[in-house]
Amino acid sequence: MFWKKRKLIANVIEDKCCHCRCCVRICSHHVLEAAVVQGKNVTFVNRPDRCTGCGKCVAICPKEAIELIDKYC
Ligand code: SF4
Ligand code: SF4
Repeated sequence: MFWKKRKLIANVIEDKCCHCRCCVRICSHHVLEAAVVQGKNVTFVNRPDRCTGCGKCVAICPKEAIELIDKYC
């Protein structure tokens, strides 16, 4: 039987996010990215493969706009 490996990764809850970029700055693995797309600020998980699930971004977010979610790979 084949079991997939469970991993926790960051996920930005876009409608709670104020785009302060604290999470982008604290992540030493450069997982998160902030950009302006069609005149709108967006903060997103750009490199989920690099996320270690350390939770530093969750802890620093002032808006509770990041959660750790299960990923099976
Ligand atoms: S720390 Fe929270 S509010 Fe700030 S950009 Fe990241 S997800 Fe958005
Ligand atoms: S959980 Fe850790 S590695 Fe993943 S995005 Fe947040 S700070 Fe970066």
